[in-house]
Amino acid sequence: MGDEDQNILVVGGGISGITAAIEAAETGANVVIVERNPYLGGRVAQLNQYFPKLCPPTCGLEINFRRIKNNPKISFLTQAEVLSISGQPGAYSVTLQLNPRYVNDNCTACGKCAEVCETTVPSQVNYGMDSVKAAYLPHQMAYPFKYVLAPEIIGTDEATKCAEACPYNAIDLSMKPETLTLEFGAVVWATGWDPYEAEKIDYLGFGQFPNVMTNVMFERLAAFNGPTSGKMLRPSDGKEVKSVAFVQCAGSRDENHLAYCSGVCCLASLKQSTYIRERVPDSKAFIYYIDVRAMGKYEDFYTRVQQDENISFIKSKIARISEDKESGGLLVEGEDVIGGSRVSQVVDLVVLAVGMTPGTAKVKPDLEMNYDDFGFVTGSGASGIIPAGCVKAPMEVAASLQDATAAALKAIQVAVRR
Ligand SMILES: Cc1cc2nc3c(=O)[nH]c(=O)nc-3n(C[C@H](O)[C@H](O)[C@H](O)COP(=O)(O)OP(=O)(O)OC[C@H]3O[C@@H](n4cnc5c(N)ncnc54)[C@H](O)[C@@H]3O)c2cc1C
Repeated sequence: MGDEDQNILVVGGGISGITAAIEAAETGANVVIVERNPYLGGRVAQLNQYFPKLCPPTCGLEINFRRIKNNPKISFLTQAEVLSISGQPGAYSVTLQLNPRYVNDNCTACGKCAEVCETTVPSQVNYGMDSVKAAYLPHQMAYPFKYVLAPEIIGTDEATKCAEACPYNAIDLSMKPETLTLEFGAVVWATGWDPYEAEKIDYLGFGQFPNVMTNVMFERLAAFNGPTSGKMLRPSDGKEVKSVAFVQCAGSRDENHLAYCSGVCCLASLKQSTYIRERVPDSKAFIYYIDVRAMGKYEDFYTRVQQDENISFIKSKIARISEDKESGGLLVEGEDVIGGSRVSQVVDLVVLAVGMTPGTAKVKPDLEMNYDDFGFVTGSGASGIIPAGCVKAPMEVAASLQDATAAALKAIQVAVRR
């Protein structure tokens, strides 16, 4: 990167970070994306379908990956994080930590290493619902399309076996963590969100009953590259799921958990009710809600889902979930606010619509940034560190794209001002 160029760092390679990077690079800026995972795409790469069109997320991601591949102004580092940022707008010095993949660019993803690898590790992409070999491709549409060796096997005979099985000399067990210092004019901070920890809502049974899962896990259950290859199977016994209760505002709009509304969970459950209805034609879905928030252009989607008579909408805050010993299912209890009766419904599976928390709620980077009470980044004062996407507030993909594009423009302005 020459002195005359605008150099922008994007931290976080989810849809917001990718968008900010591409928009900035397509105006001529040099951009480096730093992503913690071994692949780009963030949480969107873990979705089964996008609302409202119900297309696979790979359509949108693939186009963006192509734009990255074809643009020499963008480079990216995976398994990388920021250690420190010093300096001022227009002149930042950033130290990065690069963690080893133990696999180099010779990798063709032939899978020979995985064939000989016997150790397994929980699948990060599938939220630990299944295991993968310790020599693994993060997922079938991963970008970069390269294997990773889990640190668990490094230094063992298993790692040597994997290296020997590779016909392309792509496994390099001598890789070590490295640090790297680079100069940038501006930084876009797009580190995204995490699902609220459902185990904290003890009355909803997550972690106590295997058939209670979160909305992000249900995306993976429905995905053809997920733990059941898209079959709707109950975790406890593998039985086909015939009924699902979607519990809205699981922990959200609740002073004891997340006091705010994440805005996307109702839409996510509407979408997810179509997954079960499509895959299992004689199934039923029950959506327990406080009020369904499908604003503006999303209202049509809500109306469409309501037309399926096997999807019931019950206005109720669920008070308790317990196991129904007889059927092996779950008993969902609450109050039907409109009907005035008690809710007492046995279902095969419960999906908790948990909200979105910013990555910065748990660990606040040592940077000049302001936060709200929940850890979302509200701004960066006079600094040239510009937040983008769900690290600022819960938002769906369309809003993330707009926000990231705006962040790219601000980053260019800061970088130009140096
Ligand atoms: C159940 C559910 C279903 C959803 N379905 C839809 C849908 O159908 N349609 C829709 O429009 N929206 C949907 N959304 C919302 C969508 O997931 C978000 O809009 C989107 O993920 C926002 O992208 P992001 O890049 O801001 O964050 P993320 O997707 O979280 O990406 C952030 C990236 O930053 C990386 N990162 C984090 N910390 C660091 C660090 N310190 N250093 C380097 N990298 C880091 C992460 O690994 C990640 O790759 C859904 C949300 C939920 C909860």
